[in-house]
Amino acid sequence: MQMNKNRIFRLNREEPGKGDYVLYWMQASQSYYDNHALYHAIERANELQLPLVVLFCIMPESSTDNFRHYDFLIRGLYETRDAIEGTGIKFILKWGAIQESVLELSKNAALVISDASPLPHMVDLRRSIAQELNIQYLQVDSNSIVPFIIASDKEESGIYSISRKIMSQLGDFLDLPNEPPKIDNIWTEDKKIESSFTLEEAHEKLKDYKYENNCIVSDYFTPGYSAGMRRMEEFFSTGKLESYHMDGNDPAREGKSLLSPYLHFGQISPVRVCMSALKYSGGTGCQAFIKELAVRKGLAENFVFFNDNYFNIRSLPHWALTTLNEHISDKREYIYTLEQLERGETHDPYWNAAQKEMTLTGYMHGYMRAYWGKRVIEWSLTPKDAYDRLIYLNDKYQLDGHDANGYAGIAGCFGKHDREWFEKPVLGSVRSMDSSELGWNFDLDKYVKRVNSLKKQSAGK
Ligand SMILES: Cc1cc2nc3c(=O)[nH]c(=O)nc-3n(C[C@H](O)[C@H](O)[C@H](O)COP(=O)(O)OP(=O)(O)OC[C@H]3O[C@@H](n4cnc5c(N)ncnc54)[C@H](O)[C@@H]3O)c2cc1C
Repeated sequence: MQMNKNRIFRLNREEPGKGDYVLYWMQASQSYYDNHALYHAIERANELQLPLVVLFCIMPESSTDNFRHYDFLIRGLYETRDAIEGTGIKFILKWGAIQESVLELSKNAALVISDASPLPHMVDLRRSIAQELNIQYLQVDSNSIVPFIIASDKEESGIYSISRKIMSQLGDFLDLPNEPPKIDNIWTEDKKIESSFTLEEAHEKLKDYKYENNCIVSDYFTPGYSAGMRRMEEFFSTGKLESYHMDGNDPAREGKSLLSPYLHFGQISPVRVCMSALKYSGGTGCQAFIKELAVRKGLAENFVFFNDNYFNIRSLPHWALTTLNEHISDKREYIYTLEQLERGETHDPYWNAAQKEMTLTGYMHGYMRAYWGKRVIEWSLTPKDAYDRLIYLNDKYQLDGHDANGYAGIAGCFGKHDREWFEKPVLGSVRSMDSSELGWNFDLDKYVKRVNSLKKQSAGK
């Protein structure tokens, strides 16, 4: 199967130069398998009769990045590195400023390729690198089913408008071959390029790097491509895909795929998941699942790509900001400090359970995420406070945090991509969600019991 060429985006107008290798700067798609950017880099290296170098950069930067995330990332990369090196491609790890590392290695490259991220600081980084390069620089989108650049040329207001655009193109982007292409020109060590550290050394080094120690490594998710694919197979083989439209939202039933950490780190491909789901079933549950994976995820990518305020309250539509501000002086029944929230010490056992699920495992059930977010609005002094706290907690504890889906999910709690509802205190006409509404549909006590049986499995590996 041929890759859809619309995944490829030219980041500058240059042509390939004379060089010793093709350089693939890996960032968003961290797998050897099912990685369009890597596959294209191999094909271009073969065309130019050159070997291929894959560069990965580690730059600890964000205040909410922590060892939970880096542990998952690096242990996932062990498998990727081994597969890459096993086929004669050079894998290089650099520590520190990304742009400098990419430009340094580009000096002897004929062509540079990177994968794609819709997050504005990542888009800017690629633009900035492109300005410095006098050889061809391409971006290949491997993390979206329909690439976010193709899906729409403007910020979409909601799910309906983007759904049509994505679903009408979906078939054109189910474009993964069964096997990776083979590299013709094997890397030979006489072309000396050194890593800053091995991945194992970087893993050790990151343990001590400015992290808050109350965010423990999650033993609930084994990182890496193989573990992600096993989880996908299990989701299919246990009937959860087929019953996704009925059970997916029920926190007590565990009907979700739990694939989000793997998708977030690009350890597995959403295209592969979609192709496999369609092959496996194609029924109503499968269609509902694909809607989430292709359309909801696509809407989130569209949001962060077009909205520079994706991480703060200014991202909201006018009506939502207005109604929240009109209700800013409403009496809050409960006000909690960030520390109380973080420790899951509120009066609400369902909210506490959701918070506990996230802090212990690095994952919160999708339906509970919306409830979790809405309640924090009610329990904070201002909507802005609530927004900032949600971003902080989500990015700190969720293994899939720092993701377009999370930023869109949080904005969604405040009315983004939604319409106005009946006016209520505090939330105004933003849709509310209280525990009695949750309880009508689901056995929440069962959810609480399940979460309370979770063990603190790993105390900071
Ligand atoms: C307040 C809040 C915070 C959230 N934070 C994150 C986050 O940090 N990272 C994250 O990936 N998602 C986040 N989401 C979106 C969604 O809840 C998760 O993607 C989903 O629950 C992940 O679990 P899963 O893989 O088992 O999902 P499944 O239901 O099995 O879905 C499979 C995949 O479809 C996509 N998907 C499903 N639901 C959504 C959605 N609502 N929006 C966008 N994509 C979706 C995801 O890629 C997901 O992995 C958040 C939602 C809310 C309301």
